[in-house]
Amino acid sequence: LDPAEFSDESHAVVDFIADYYRTVENYPVRSQVKPGYLSKLLPKQAPLFSEPIDIILEDIRHDILPGLTHWQSPNFYAYFQANASTAGFLGEMLCSGLNVVGFNWISSPAATELENIVMDWMAKLLKLPPCFLFSGGQGGGGVLHGSTCEAVVCTLVAARDRTLRKNGHDAISKLVVYASDQTHATVQKAVRIVGIPPTNFRIIPTSAASGYSLTAHSLRAAIKADVAKGFVPVYVCATVGTTAVGAVDPIRDLGKVSNEFGAWYHVDAAYAGSATICPEFRHYFDGVELADSISMNPHKWFLTNMDCCCLWVKKPSALVDSLSTNPEYLRNKASEANEVVDYKDWQISLSRRFRAIKLWVVIRRYGVINLVEHIRSDVAMAKQFEKMVSMDKRFEVVVPRKFSLVCFRLKPRFEGDDALSINQSLLEMVNSSGQAFMTHAKVDGMFVLRFSVGTTLTEMRHVEMTWKLIQAKAKDILLEDV
Ligand code: PLP
Repeated sequence: LDPAEFSDESHAVVDFIADYYRTVENYPVRSQVKPGYLSKLLPKQAPLFSEPIDIILEDIRHDILPGLTHWQSPNFYAYFQANASTAGFLGEMLCSGLNVVGFNWISSPAATELENIVMDWMAKLLKLPPCFLFSGGQGGGGVLHGSTCEAVVCTLVAARDRTLRKNGHDAISKLVVYASDQTHATVQKAVRIVGIPPTNFRIIPTSAASGYSLTAHSLRAAIKADVAKGFVPVYVCATVGTTAVGAVDPIRDLGKVSNEFGAWYHVDAAYAGSATICPEFRHYFDGVELADSISMNPHKWFLTNMDCCCLWVKKPSALVDSLSTNPEYLRNKASEANEVVDYKDWQISLSRRFRAIKLWVVIRRYGVINLVEHIRSDVAMAKQFEKMVSMDKRFEVVVPRKFSLVCFRLKPRFEGDDALSINQSLLEMVNSSGQAFMTHAKVDGMFVLRFSVGTTLTEMRHVEMTWKLIQAKAKDILLEDV
């Protein structure tokens, strides 16, 4: 690595990305390419000799950018946002540039210690109870993972082993995991990974009456029925801000039921956790002290470039009991003396990125005041969009908005009309126009359009323009469909 060349070429890449951000609004938001397009453009073999960075960047411009769906476009309203920021990018550069691998304390003490500090900072911003903080004096603490999927697998492994230690290892076929029909699919995947029979994954139905949240009554009924048959409840996952509609489960009520039956209680706040830095949203976490673990993704809505998931656990020793390995080549005095955190024992992989520096730069560079303002401005835009939808008689808001996700659809036009095809057509027309990108969900059999506000460059003018686009496409569809 030649520092002079590193500096020149990094500047070229930074300029390329800055230019990309200047023009990102001009690209079709959802890529319009056909499957297999890239193999027609690129050579079949890797180059034998070195190629200059400007030629590589040119190829990215011509061949790669058209095949991207532009997540940073201000007209991206799909899935949940992955909001990039200048500080998030700078933090990521530092993480990647320093390129340390802090699997245990001695392999990079500052990486571990900064992660301890940043996890406590974040926990305080979310007003988590002291039981989740290193500084809380109760043995708790936090770790940065790459994704919620990893956090859920790790906590489920810890829960599995905790329960098997009590019930004997043969009990694995009896362990049952509980979630709702709105819970992210990550829990179902984790069940398969950790060896719990897939048939022991209970998907409890929700309904419009509860705002698509899991009720304590239905959780209790499901657990009691299983216990009566000799099953053992091992893990309950509640969600603050579900993926399909942004619903919130009653954290305290579900926690009481989980605690009563000895199941590990996890709170997944991947998307909406960021909003709880604002006092007006913090009440959604009431009762979180009953949880064994809680996770949220700063890479969704906290201006932190991919990837970054915060996981806090009340008893990190439960993770360590399941995930620690101590090969000779990693042994060192600090670990043997039990003086330090060795994050390799809190996660799946050995190697790990220095994500803490990224989150630290984001928090310091923006300050809490601006982070709160960032959440509030997205919520305000979503509120305005929801208002515009409600004022148009052809549409309806399907689920009352809580955060920055609006779920809406064209109303059924006559008795018995399920409105499926007109809403599918509307979504496809908007997305294939290239001017905006939204995704859908199905709730109660309804095909619902999801409008998720949160990309960093989105302003009210983009939201208004997209609403006009949706209205125009709706007009065409309704005229055609008479
Ligand atoms: N949980 C919820 C509520 C989500 O919305 C998502 C992703 O959108 C996930 C979990 C999965 O997160 P990750 O991609 O970090 O595993």
